[in-house]
Amino acid sequence: MATHAYWCESAWLTGGLARRVRIVVEGRTIRRLETDADPEPDDVRLHGVTLPGMANTHSHAFHRALRGRVNGSGGNFWSWREQMYAVAAELNPDRYFMLARAVFAEMVLAGITLVGEFHYVHHRPGGKPFGDPNAMSLAVRQAAEEAGIRLTLLDTCYLEGGLSGSGHVELHPGQRRFSDGTVDAWAARMSARRPETDRVRLGAAIHSVRAVRREDLPKVVAAAAGLPLHVHLSEQHGENLACQMFYGCTPTQLLDEAGALGGHLTAIHATHVTDHDIELLGGTGTGACFCPTTERDLADGIGPARALSDAGATLSLGSDQHVVIDPFEELRGLEMHERLVTNERDRFSPSDLVHAATFNGYRALGWSDGGHLSKGALADFVTVRTDTVTTAGSRPEQIVYSCVASDVSTVVVGGEVVVSEGRHRIGDVARLLGASIERVLPGATQ
Ligand SMILES: [Zn+2]
Repeated sequence: MATHAYWCESAWLTGGLARRVRIVVEGRTIRRLETDADPEPDDVRLHGVTLPGMANTHSHAFHRALRGRVNGSGGNFWSWREQMYAVAAELNPDRYFMLARAVFAEMVLAGITLVGEFHYVHHRPGGKPFGDPNAMSLAVRQAAEEAGIRLTLLDTCYLEGGLSGSGHVELHPGQRRFSDGTVDAWAARMSARRPETDRVRLGAAIHSVRAVRREDLPKVVAAAAGLPLHVHLSEQHGENLACQMFYGCTPTQLLDEAGALGGHLTAIHATHVTDHDIELLGGTGTGACFCPTTERDLADGIGPARALSDAGATLSLGSDQHVVIDPFEELRGLEMHERLVTNERDRFSPSDLVHAATFNGYRALGWSDGGHLSKGALADFVTVRTDTVTTAGSRPEQIVYSCVASDVSTVVVGGEVVVSEGRHRIGDVARLLGASIERVLPGATQ
């Protein structure tokens, strides 16, 4: 098989930053790494710091349409959610494909090489299935393929309209298209998805303990056996309160009782968890995905990242509703929010932060063969310039404290260059975003 090579001024290897690194790629994987090496004539030269490809562990692609449009009138998470449902109501497979393709391309420009799409817009408005019951997930897959990003499609079980202190509430009209009606119907549709490919892997999700009843949780866990499983957990006090009133326990305890906790599970947010919840999550090796830019945008709160990590939970990062798509902002958010609540700096090491943004996310999404620069790993990597107005003067080993998404110059996915000199091979991503948002929110971009 043909090989080609990249020469990196510096690269973040599993042992830390190394200088003058040659990455020799064979097919889709890294054949070998040479450190302190001179470039060879045919090598692609990457100036700056080359990092492993980054994972966006938690995404709802269509939420991107709300960016810069839902501020200035007060409210909270629950009122924001009503505006999000209005966008969901406008989606069909064609519009969903266009929007997701543009959003995924924006992610690749920012250095993201793998996305976990927490997908729940399954059916027509009102809940009737499309001719192909997986038409919407197929649109997401095609969007990822065209944008050149790896995808884990987390097909989400969403059956109830919410949870109050007196029980689950019925789906309201805007939520009906999210539901398959029963766990069995969800599992049957999910298992009829097209098979995995080089770029697409399959996963599953429980929307939350608000949207799936106690008696249904073990059935979802059984249907998802062998797949990565994700769940929104304790993002809001309201969820905890209702769970405590109706079920007499925390959402984490409810998931524990259902046999959901463990290394295959990633809890999204884990913002308002108790000390006992932290012990349960950490003790079972459950992952925790923080989404700092979303959590502050939606006024959720700050989760106990350091405590979860110390207890044994593996931390990863996601941009969730995409008020920002910048993996460096998310990894700094993990550290900066800790600084704000503890009055201490360096709660995480630079290596911890890079690991959260790369390997831990890859692992949470079922791709342990990527997200690290080592022999035999998937050839996914990203170069950040060190000579821009934001990065000039920064030490390479501290680059993640200063760089922003627009400092990414090169993105390689599976040995293919998808972004070069800061430009995506698909073309003008801003234009694609504008056109696709206009389709779901007419007049939005005028
Ligand atoms: Zn979410």
